[in-house]
Amino acid sequence: MSPQSAIQHEDALHHLHPFTNSGRLNKKGARVITRAEGVYIWDEGGQKIIDGMAGLWCVNLGYGRTELADVANEQMRVLPYYNTFFQTTHGPAAALAKAIAEVTPGDLNHIFFANSGSEAIDTIMRLARHYWAIKGKPYRNILIARENAYHGSTLAGASLGGMGGMHKQGAPLVPGIERIRQPYWYGEGGDMSEDEFGLACARALEEKILQVGPDNVAAFIGEPIQGAGGVIVPPETYWPEIQRICRKYDILLVADEVICGFGRTGNWFGSQTYGIEPDMISMAKGLSSGYLPIAAVAVGDRVANALIDHDEDFNHGFTYSGHPVAAAVALKTIEIMQQENIVERVRDVIAPYFQQKLAELADHPLVGHIDKKGLVAGMALMMDKATKTPFPADIDIGMICRDHCFENGLIMRATGSRMILSPPLVITEAELDELFLKARHCLDLTLKTVQDMGVI
Ligand code: PMP
Repeated sequence: MSPQSAIQHEDALHHLHPFTNSGRLNKKGARVITRAEGVYIWDEGGQKIIDGMAGLWCVNLGYGRTELADVANEQMRVLPYYNTFFQTTHGPAAALAKAIAEVTPGDLNHIFFANSGSEAIDTIMRLARHYWAIKGKPYRNILIARENAYHGSTLAGASLGGMGGMHKQGAPLVPGIERIRQPYWYGEGGDMSEDEFGLACARALEEKILQVGPDNVAAFIGEPIQGAGGVIVPPETYWPEIQRICRKYDILLVADEVICGFGRTGNWFGSQTYGIEPDMISMAKGLSSGYLPIAAVAVGDRVANALIDHDEDFNHGFTYSGHPVAAAVALKTIEIMQQENIVERVRDVIAPYFQQKLAELADHPLVGHIDKKGLVAGMALMMDKATKTPFPADIDIGMICRDHCFENGLIMRATGSRMILSPPLVITEAELDELFLKARHCLDLTLKTVQDMGVI
């Protein structure tokens, strides 16, 4: 094992990492990233790496955008902080609320600010339940979510999400949450066509509503495309049926767009890609292209007007709700997206090219199936794709592949046995060519590793 650098040593001594086995990491030392430009990051050893994940699905405009740095600098000098409690506001928060209201679909005309996707989700949970309490139905407090959903890491987010590994830790969880199956056709669709399976999964919502009683349910929440769950792209029939069922039982529909929001699927929001009109949308990540922590909940007229007409404080908020510097950077992010037609370019130019490159990769012996939409994809790695046989549990095929990627200058994330791509929205065709050349090479190396291990 190579000796650790000063940063790695310090890090191992004092830094506890998210979603990490700290004991193991400290022995080998964390990767140290030192700088970034465009779609590339560099590590301490000087290796240039193409970032197929846009950081953590967030750096949509790419690294090194000096306009964003300049706006932050300017705002810090003028008004680095002031809160939005106590009947106070400031220019950046007001302007950003207006800008978000303009780019969100339907009647999502009011914005509540938070700092992270998890906080946005907590806000939605409290607001959905509070809405029904205002309406005189406090018993309408059950939230329905899905297996293998990710809604953040706070207690509420972890409880709402469908990740078994998270539920095992830090329990008891928040009560009043029910879950239904995920619309993962390749993995769970059996003999059904994709369309049939989409409808069957959506109807699981109706069954759950009837089981717990329609008048006890506050909201249904889902990511338009499940991200951290491995990029599960639902069948086209799924979301319209979910919308129909929510309307039928007067249940609030919530889209968690922390990943899908801000262009990832080829529209400003995933809800537009799937033709749904949610009552609330959570957003974070792409809102500031990851340059500063900021998140928001866009609230539709039905809920917002109830809150506004109800003569009582909403007792919820964060010191940094609408932080002026983060808000100024987010506002500039939206401006850049509009000026450079980022969303249109994703939809018309770069996503089609990305999809074509993915289709070419599908013939690789390890690639069983690729879920893809816009500029996001999840590849299922299989031991035998013809018979849909997965690798045995003791072979961490995702980790093997991820390590080869990193060694070869590519960031591709592993979620179990699925490899994920979610590059910056500004990536060029030439950069995608490079990314896919590396991806194929790394899949070849992964195949060779498992062959050498005698697994295949
Ligand atoms: N919801 C979704 C759909 C997410 O993907 C994430 C983060 N990956 C979150 C919520 C939580 O966001 P954060 O990590 O900013 O708290």
